Amino acid sequence: MLTAPATMTSKDITTVSSSLNEGVQALEILCERLLRQQPQSKALLERLLARSRRKTKQCAFAPLHGNRCSACNMTVASAQIQKVKAGEFINCAHCSIFLYHQQ
Ligand SMILES: [Zn+2]
Repeated sequence: MLTAPATMTSKDITTVSSSLNEGVQALEILCERLLRQQPQSKALLERLLARSRRKTKQCAFAPLHGNRCSACNMTVASAQIQKVKAGEFINCAHCSIFLYHQQ
């Protein structure tokens, strides 16, 4: 009952689709975390998600890079950076994306 060639082909497909799934899962985890923390952000999140479906380059979430938004590269105010580092989500003042601290 060995179907080696068929297994190899489907494994390649699985590898590709599982990395896609990981991206979706990561987004779902971020959405869940955000809404648990800030239920009032739901409307904005939905707007950003709708926007990110149209623009494939952009997503509703971006990690903070140093003191900059990794989506638009604008500097984030230091008071906001403190919040992100404390585990909160903030919105970029420039592109309104949700910024989070990447461990
Ligand atoms: Zn930004």
